[in-house]
Amino acid sequence: MITDQVSVSDTQTRSPRLWIPERVLFTPAALDEDWGQQILKRVQSLNLPIEELSQNRLKGLRGESERDTYNIAKRTLAVVTAPPSSFKLSPIPPSADWQFHLAEGCPAHCQYCYLAGSLSGPPVIRVFANLPKILENLANYEQQGKTTSFEVSCYTDPLGIEHLTGSLAKCIRYFGTRTNAHLRWVSKFDAVDGLLDLPHNGNTRCRMSVNAAPISGKFEGGTASVASRLNALRRLALPQERGGGGYPIGLVIAPIIPIDDWQMHYSRLFEQINEALDFDCNLTFELISHRFTPGSKEVLQTWYPQSKLEMDEAKRSVKRNKFGGTKYVYEKDTMKALRSFFESEISRRFPNAEILYWT
Ligand code: SF4
Repeated sequence: MITDQVSVSDTQTRSPRLWIPERVLFTPAALDEDWGQQILKRVQSLNLPIEELSQNRLKGLRGESERDTYNIAKRTLAVVTAPPSSFKLSPIPPSADWQFHLAEGCPAHCQYCYLAGSLSGPPVIRVFANLPKILENLANYEQQGKTTSFEVSCYTDPLGIEHLTGSLAKCIRYFGTRTNAHLRWVSKFDAVDGLLDLPHNGNTRCRMSVNAAPISGKFEGGTASVASRLNALRRLALPQERGGGGYPIGLVIAPIIPIDDWQMHYSRLFEQINEALDFDCNLTFELISHRFTPGSKEVLQTWYPQSKLEMDEAKRSVKRNKFGGTKYVYEKDTMKALRSFFESEISRRFPNAEILYWT
């Protein structure tokens, strides 16, 4: 609950952006899990159309074209169990030591989506009913004598589905009980009321992904506005005695794109951030320039055939990873100009904030 010491923007909060799926599918295995039953109760209380499947495989989600398949999948929530392979975690530098997943798929429609090409099949939003087992497994990855960090937003926007699952709150509570493990999540949604009173013990860093207005307005369909995300972040960061969540917070500025007048547009974004975070807080920045791979470009072009997002290989530099994969990033001089602008703006405006990485 926000108290008297709030900014004007706190009092002007609109209803949060909530995704409502057209259908919710439950596999038999998901219904056998206590956490699956908890999700069932939530979606029943929202009067959503529920289908109990007779088998554990998801079928019938394809339309006549890739675009139809996209539309069907993005309106569907499937409650399933995470496969055994998800109990073997992968590292996720530079964001965190390890990644784990409470869901795969995202209800938003960003035309540069990071999931394109990383998840196979229709982009249905699958949430995992065996979350307690997924959390239990994390202790095996905690390193002795140091804090181990875990990222939970690599394959989903965990806040975007929180009203349907409660899974992010479950993760935050779990990490609140650990002495040497930290949780990190990031979102473009804003429904944070249910997170403010959780016993997080400072072990969760909540981040919002933000961008300059022309980029956010054009390419980030189905998300909360940047102003709403910043207001949500403010509420997460405000001390609990001021009605906030008292969390460490972060901003992920991504994907950074050198649009016309980019310095002016990103300066305006920094002004908005300044206004929203006008109090002392534990703040980090992560800076990610736009990139694409041949695979992600191909998928994005079927999902968003009319998109004006620039993905011209001729204007980019090629970056190869150690597995032989190819990425297209901005050319050296552009990267240098962007990086130096962001680093100097942040150190000037937010001298106490830490920049975790530029990529
Ligand atoms: Fe993709 Fe993230 Fe946008 Fe969701 S919020 S559509 S995961 S880029």
